[in-house]
Amino acid sequence: MLLHKRVLVTGGAGFIGSHLCERLLERGCEVLCVDNFYTSARSNVAHLLGNSRFELVRHDITFPLYVEVDEIYNLACPAAPIHYQRDPVQTTKTSVHGAINMLGLAKRVKAKILQASTSEVYGSPEVHPQPESYWGNVNPCGIRSCYDEGKRCAETLFYDYNRQHGLRVKVARIFNTYGPRMHPNDGRVVSNFIVQALRGEPITIYGDGSQTRSFCFVDDLVEGLMRLMDSRDEFIGPVNMGNPTELTIKELAEGVLDLLDTPSELVFKELPHDDPPRRKPDIALAKRELGWEPGIPLREGLEKTVAYFKELFADV
Ligand code: NAD
Ligand code: UDP
Ligand code: UDP
Repeated sequence: MLLHKRVLVTGGAGFIGSHLCERLLERGCEVLCVDNFYTSARSNVAHLLGNSRFELVRHDITFPLYVEVDEIYNLACPAAPIHYQRDPVQTTKTSVHGAINMLGLAKRVKAKILQASTSEVYGSPEVHPQPESYWGNVNPCGIRSCYDEGKRCAETLFYDYNRQHGLRVKVARIFNTYGPRMHPNDGRVVSNFIVQALRGEPITIYGDGSQTRSFCFVDDLVEGLMRLMDSRDEFIGPVNMGNPTELTIKELAEGVLDLLDTPSELVFKELPHDDPPRRKPDIALAKRELGWEPGIPLREGLEKTVAYFKELFADV
């Protein structure tokens, strides 16, 4: 009998997690998707339920979980600012208690475990672009802190379980990622702009739109995460994963308008607190260690995302 690798994906029903589950199944793995549906719906993985190697379990990772697996991708955590700020205490619990539980599980079953960390660990960066060696500039008591500090503490836990218990761990610092299955109401810039343009509503630019971000298409990101999981045990990271093509938020808005025939116009709103003015990953380490770099240009990725939202809205 052929033995498949058993892989646990926490947050597997979310935007990135659902694509990861799909790719792991394509690879022949058994996939256990654990999610409490805090920011997602079963519909993201409904198409996988018929696969005998896929299992979906509703569970909150701030509570212990006893299963038998070979690898764990720990993605569970609300990721969009309006989502993680809705219940900030729960956000920190998910990052910290959730990490402890998943590390405890990995320790018991001797699984390899990967943490979905974030560019937010750099806070409002004073070094540009951000290399992994930069320790960041993070406000510990602002409205983003529940997410930023939670993720920073999770990184600490991953390193300490490695040093103290010899666990095989991997840490990916994910930069802004977009694509199909983003939540239409998550307030993130790519989903907001596309949804607004499709509805002919004003495109809301916060501040003057000169702040920059670098957007990675989800398929590229998932490939990077899988390569990191497969990398040699000595390579832990942290490793940046994102697209180094930097653009201003105003340029992004213009790019979205270019793709769609819409009466939407740009409107300018107040910039949220602690909104980082610039962000761009230095991905030299990922290139060197994993032979990874994003391949999907922004326009192509936006087209796929627009197609997804058009279909989503056609269904309702
Ligand atoms: P998402 O909100 O779509 O997915 C997160 C998933 O985790 C959801 O399905 C949610 O229901 C689940 N979840 C939340 N709390 C949970 C808990 N306590 N127990 C079990 N499940 C829980 O977000 P996403 O964009 O897919 O992000 C996935 C991961 O990647 C997150 O850890 C996020 O911090 C990280 N990340 C994402 C981005 C990005 O641009 N999308 C950037 C940096 C880091
Ligand atoms: N844990 C879990 N599943 C397991 C093993 C452990 O959820 O299969 C949780 C358990 O709740 C524990 C945490 O992981 O509190 C940390 O486990 P560890 O063994 O590191 O520490 P301890 O059990 O000593 O607290
Ligand atoms: N943003 C914007 N209009 C929107 C949503 C977001 O101008 O409708 C800006 C936001 O202020 C930030 C950037 O776009 O500067 C990226 O925001 P997002 O919430 O997607 O991600 P993050 O701030 O976590 O990088």
